[in-house]
Amino acid sequence: MGLTRIKHPSHSQHYLVLRYPQEPYWCDGCIGLGFGPCYECEHEDCSFYLHEECANAAPSTSHPFSKCSLKFHYNAPQEDERYCDACGEDVLGFVYQCSHKHPHDYHPRCLKLPLTVTAGDGLILQLKKKLPSKCLRCGSRETSNRIQGWCYVSSPDRYCYHIACVKDMILEKWKKDYFTQDGNVNEANSLALQTFSPGREIALPGGRSSSKATQIWRKATTVIMVIISALFGEPSALISVLVQYLLSS
Ligand SMILES: [Zn+2]
Ligand SMILES: [Zn+2]
Ligand SMILES: [Zn+2]
Ligand SMILES: [Zn+2]
Ligand SMILES: [Zn+2]
Repeated sequence: MGLTRIKHPSHSQHYLVLRYPQEPYWCDGCIGLGFGPCYECEHEDCSFYLHEECANAAPSTSHPFSKCSLKFHYNAPQEDERYCDACGEDVLGFVYQCSHKHPHDYHPRCLKLPLTVTAGDGLILQLKKKLPSKCLRCGSRETSNRIQGWCYVSSPDRYCYHIACVKDMILEKWKKDYFTQDGNVNEANSLALQTFSPGREIALPGGRSSSKATQIWRKATTVIMVIISALFGEPSALISVLVQYLLSS
């Protein structure tokens, strides 16, 4: 955990303070959705946020999945469309990039994804560079923009989900509930994600409804929730609401 009050070159006119917001925010560094700890501009008229990982991004870094040496940029040096090699999402701001001719790009947050997540009931999720089996959400080993994005695989059951697919699921839901049709923020639904239920978003394969299928569905739902917690940081409140929601349905 870094300092609690900082000046950051991307917003040098005001101080930023470390906060634990109760609502999702957009990071003005990587232009990605965030929950959990972030640096927020202390000026009341400013709504400027940075993921903690974006605010504290080191000038260079590396990752066990990559042999490349990665340098931090406020914007990708290339003009063309860039995608994060981990999560498949667009690179629109802060990025780590290598110096290869066809460079790899990573969001600062994606490089900080936990390699292993241990949840209750002996469930362990491992971050993998290559999918050992098809993603249960999209049925493919590639993401929708044909990137070989990273995934989490559960053990012992080996449920596999792209990070890209879990992010998509969340973003779709969030955009639907958070914004009204004219694009304004729907205040009443600003906490909508806290009642997000992955169970509703996951169809049972082949419409099966046997008790075996229900069991698989419950496990898959749990796996998704744990991935969400890994993706979005400090998740305890969000996740406990999700779990309660799941158990009551
Ligand atoms: Zn960010
Ligand atoms: Zn400001
Ligand atoms: Zn590279
Ligand atoms: Zn990413
Ligand atoms: Zn997928």
